[in-house]
This record gives sequence, structure tokens and C-alpha cells, in this order.
Amino acid sequence: MSEPLVIIGNGMAAARLVDELAQCALGRYAIAVIGDEPRLAYNRVLLSSVLAGEATSEEIELRSAAWWRDRGVTLKFGSTATSIDMNTREVRTASGKRVPFSKLVFATGSSALRLPVPGAELAGVHTFRDSRDVDLLIELAAQKKRVVVVGGGLLGLEAAYGLAKAGSTVTLIHLMDRLMERQLDAAAAALLKTLVERKGVTVLLNANTATIYGNESVQGVELKDGRRLDADAVIFAAGIRPNTSLAKDAGIAVNRGILVDDRMATATGGVFALGECAEHRGTCYGLVEPAYEQAKVLARHLAGRAAAYEGSVLATNLKVSGVSVFSAGDFMAAEGSETLLLNDISRGIYKKLVISGGMLTGAVLVGDTRDALWYLELIRSGADVDSLRANMMFGRSLAEAA
Ligand SMILES: Cc1cc2nc3c(=O)[nH]c(=O)nc-3n(C[C@H](O)[C@H](O)[C@H](O)COP(=O)(O)OP(=O)(O)OC[C@H]3O[C@@H](n4cnc5c(N)ncnc54)[C@H](O)[C@@H]3O)c2cc1C
Repeated sequence: MSEPLVIIGNGMAAARLVDELAQCALGRYAIAVIGDEPRLAYNRVLLSSVLAGEATSEEIELRSAAWWRDRGVTLKFGSTATSIDMNTREVRTASGKRVPFSKLVFATGSSALRLPVPGAELAGVHTFRDSRDVDLLIELAAQKKRVVVVGGGLLGLEAAYGLAKAGSTVTLIHLMDRLMERQLDAAAAALLKTLVERKGVTVLLNANTATIYGNESVQGVELKDGRRLDADAVIFAAGIRPNTSLAKDAGIAVNRGILVDDRMATATGGVFALGECAEHRGTCYGLVEPAYEQAKVLARHLAGRAAAYEGSVLATNLKVSGVSVFSAGDFMAAEGSETLLLNDISRGIYKKLVISGGMLTGAVLVGDTRDALWYLELIRSGADVDSLRANMMFGRSLAEAA
């Protein structure tokens, strides 16, 4: 008889895990997926495209209902897991159901943070995490509302671009002195700012939110330096927090995320975690690629094969607000490393390659990311790049032909 395996969360990590399990352990487990969103798993990364009107909500579904059914998966969507009884080995749901498990996987993702500022609870303050948020943002844009987006990282930029494209007047405010400071150096960030402003978004840097003002609903944002920005809505895109409370309440070890080892196992027998809710070697990843690498390892482990996840080299390869951006490794260039630079502002192209000890150790690209995967491969493999160096800035074909 198949062993009952329950996955909590019906997001990107869960869908990939089922996919991987179907390939390496078909029939071994009777899988049930409990997800609180009221729909089939979808590609969350593409929510920005839905907001920008470049894709429909249906088009971003990861798998059809038939796909899940054909793999024998019991899907319980629109269902929130509320507690776990480790003695009887059952998950309880908000509707009072008990779902028994032999093995349990947390794939609960993260939640968007709301800044603890006065006014954060007013009507008109939203976040950008799931398709329900996107439906709301689309409505705001259709009504040509003035929106302030708080946060100049990936999510904030995506929200700002999508809203502007859909018809809102958008001001993006960011606490730091440059956009995407965790992925970009100052020059790349400055170019990105110019390109984003060309798309109709006003960007304010060094902008610290003091208060959101309004009576019952938002009327604007006041910054710590006294500037006031009138607005009908505010979108928080200023960080995420792993969803760990369910695990913590069940006695599973949690730090920032749910603590897992190289097999994605918690210290509690038969209980695993992956994706944004998991913390591996001190890191909670906020990107989808590590979640997919973890899904592969966990599926192999659940299939009884040896596999270990050793962490991911963080690379960001995205279209941010319609602009291609790539960043990987030591993009700030640590002391003792050398930097190759190309900065063509009028064409909107910036490239920086960081070399240390004869190896490529970091890269930042804005505007032209055609060679991103090649650079990433070089960084990951630690290959000697001396023979490529003269032309590597101009792409793989030129560098390898030389
Ligand atoms: C707008 C947007 C754009 C993004 N763009 C990029 C990008 O360009 N590149 C990139 O790498 N990453 C991007 N990300 C991040 C990426 O989407 C996440 O890293 C990825 O979705 C993580 O997968 P996950 O399964 O861990 O979490 P999720 O996909 O968030 O899935 C977790 C699911 O668990 C559910 N859940 C939580 N608690 C419970 C419970 N108690 N009971 C039942 N269900 C529960 C949640 O509702 C959710 O559906 C983006 C994210 C957003 C929001």
C-alpha cells in the first residue's frame, strides 16, 4: 500500500516536488496537497505579467487539474492547515478535516511584510504576493488610482511597473540610496532607475516611510524628511517573512525559517521542508531556483536514493519592469579582485565582470543578459578564464573563438 505523504502549501515548490516524485517514486506515496489559495498551483513569478496585462491568470497555471489527477494526487485547495498532531500524525484543516500522514512536507512559502508604521492598517494598503492581491491591484489601476509602492527591490519594481502599465500614477519609494541593492552595484542600479523612470514610474531614493495618513482609507504617505506624497493606495513590497508558525506550534525547530539539513529533513522524524519557508545552512532563499533544486533532492531522498542539497549560488536573472537584469556571485567585487566594465548608458546596457585568482567570481548585467547563463556556469564551475578574458565581455561566441 502507498505511504501517505502530505504536503502543506500548494505553491511552486510543492508543484515541483510532486513533479519530481512522479518521476522517481511513482506509486510509492499517496500524496495529498493542502493549499489555502482557492485555485490550482500557478507560476507566482508571472503574477507581475498578469498585473502588467501581459498574461492571463489562467495562463500562469503550472499544471492542469487532469495532470494532478493522473498522478493520483489528492488536491485540497482553498483549505488552510491550522495545526499538526504529531502524536496521531494528522494535519488538521480550518474546516475541521484531519488528514493523516506518514511523511509530512512543509512548502508554506512566505508572507509579504507590512511595515509597522502608523496607518499601515488603513483601507487601501495592500501587498503583492498572490493572485488575490493582483486582482485588487488590477482594479486600482483600472480606476487610475495614484499609488505609492514601498520597496525598491524586485517585488516593488514589478508592482510599480505593472501598475503604471495598467494605468495608475505610480511613485516608488525606497529606503536605500539605490534600487535592488542586494543584487546590483551603484552604476547598474542607476541605469535601472533611468530605465524604470522611462516606463513612467517616479522613483524616490533615501525615502523612509514615517506615516500613512488618511481617515479610514489612505490619503497619502509622509516620509521621515517631511515630504508628503498624496495617494489613493499604498503597496508594501518591502520584504517577506517565511511562514513557519504552523511548524513552530507543532514543535518543529524553527529559526528564521524551518530548519532543514542537506536532505531537506527537519530534526523531527519524517518531517521535511523546502522552498521559501525552509532555512538551510543559515539561508532562507527568496527565489524559485533554489526551491526547485531542493525539490529534486527531497524527491530523491523520499525515493530512497542518496542526494544532498549543498546550497545555491545566488543568481538573479530577471526581467525587472521590462528590463533584463542579471546578477550573480561577488557582484560588488571584493578587495583584491579585478573588474571588467562596459557602461553604455544611451543604449541602456551595463556589464560588469569580476575576476579573482583567474576565475570569474561575480557578474552584473543590465539591458543585455544574453550571456548570463554562460557567466553563471563559469562562476559555478570555477573554471580558469585567463584565455577568455580579452573577449569575455562581448559574449561566449567571440570569447571562445578568439
Ligand atoms: C510578484 C512576484 C514576483 C516574483 N518574481 C520572481 C522572479 O522573477 N524570480 C524568482 O526566482 N522568484 C520570484 N518570486 C519569488 C517566487 O515566486 C518564490 O520564490 C516561489 O514562489 C517560492 O515557492 P514556495 O512554494 O516556497 O512558496 P509559494 O509559491 O508562496 O507557495 C506557498 C503556498 O503555501 C500556501 N500556504 C501557506 N501556509 C499555508 C497553510 N497553513 N495551509 C495551506 N496552505 C498554506 C500559500 O498560500 C502558498 O500558496 C516572485 C514572487 C512574487 C510574489
